[in-house]
Amino acid sequence: MSAPAPDGAPRLLLPTSLPEAVALLAETPEARPMAGATWLMRAPLRGETHPRTYVALGRIADLKTIEIGDAEIRIGAGATHAELAAALAPLPECRGLADAAGRSANRAVRAVATVGGNIASAGFAAADLVPALLAADAEIELEGPDGARRIGFEAFLTDRAALAPSTLIARVVVPRGTWRSAHARLPLRVAGDYPVAIVDLLAATDAGGLISRAAVAVGSVEPVARRWTSLEAALVGTPLDADAAAEMAKAAAGDFEGRDGADAPGRYRVQVLPALVQRAVAALAAQS
Ligand SMILES: Cc1cc2nc3c(=O)[nH]c(=O)nc-3n(C[C@H](O)[C@H](O)[C@H](O)COP(=O)(O)OP(=O)(O)OC[C@H]3O[C@@H](n4cnc5c(N)ncnc54)[C@H](O)[C@@H]3O)c2cc1C
Repeated sequence: MSAPAPDGAPRLLLPTSLPEAVALLAETPEARPMAGATWLMRAPLRGETHPRTYVALGRIADLKTIEIGDAEIRIGAGATHAELAAALAPLPECRGLADAAGRSANRAVRAVATVGGNIASAGFAAADLVPALLAADAEIELEGPDGARRIGFEAFLTDRAALAPSTLIARVVVPRGTWRSAHARLPLRVAGDYPVAIVDLLAATDAGGLISRAAVAVGSVEPVARRWTSLEAALVGTPLDADAAAEMAKAAAGDFEGRDGADAPGRYRVQVLPALVQRAVAALAAQS
């Protein structure tokens, strides 16, 4: 099925299943996927042109499901930020990801913006869900003309720009466990701005309250989010002490080369990292 387009507007194809969407993309080389369109609608502001055809994913029910199992959470790429935040709210270990979904953008955008749309764009450095999923050791299920495959999130970030246009993100899979997590973000002016820097922290503590496992991911500082492995190593074996963690972050901040942008210079993005680490550790310490 397709929707009639006004003169000059892109044509919309409206599949109702994932295989149908993949087939439409494969047989229509100029077509691109469209989910909530909150990133795509700003294409002209980024100097990008719309393709002649979009394959709209909103009618694919299978993409909307969020399944919470004992070992993992399976999140359909078409779930909105608002739906994800609501589904994860009862899960203590998922506070970071729930906050990433529930505090990004604004209420109207969160009601339509999807998980798949947030993580798909290689050119979107400030995506809130990306560092949250990196810290959570998420995996991605892709669906393409050659079938389905599952890859780690870091590999997905490396490969996503080179994926065939007919390959779709079907699901994000997040492991469950007895850890705590937090999402600390710094928007410069008002809620709804893209954050200039993001720190996601996930940590488990031992019986003595010392950190036994730490995952730290940094978003919006460099063009692509990445794990802060030297800080992870420094945190292990220490208590959840926000001020001490901020000092460790200050000592390791040279690991990053901030990207200059219209919203903030690169050096500022790096400078705020210790404060964001401090906030994330304080948030973890406050979680029961
Ligand atoms: C006012 C405003 C404020 C915003 N603030 C924030 C913010 O604070 N934090 C933040 O992270 N984002 C923010 N955004 C950006 C945007 O809302 C999010 O990135 C959103 O998650 C994009 O999802 P979408 O469904 O709208 O994607 P779309 O715009 O539909 O698509 C985005 C890209 O993903 C591709 N795509 C979509 N779904 C799939 C799929 N299943 N498989 C493969 N490719 C796919 C599309 O082809 C396109 O290239 C903001 C946007 C606006 C308009």
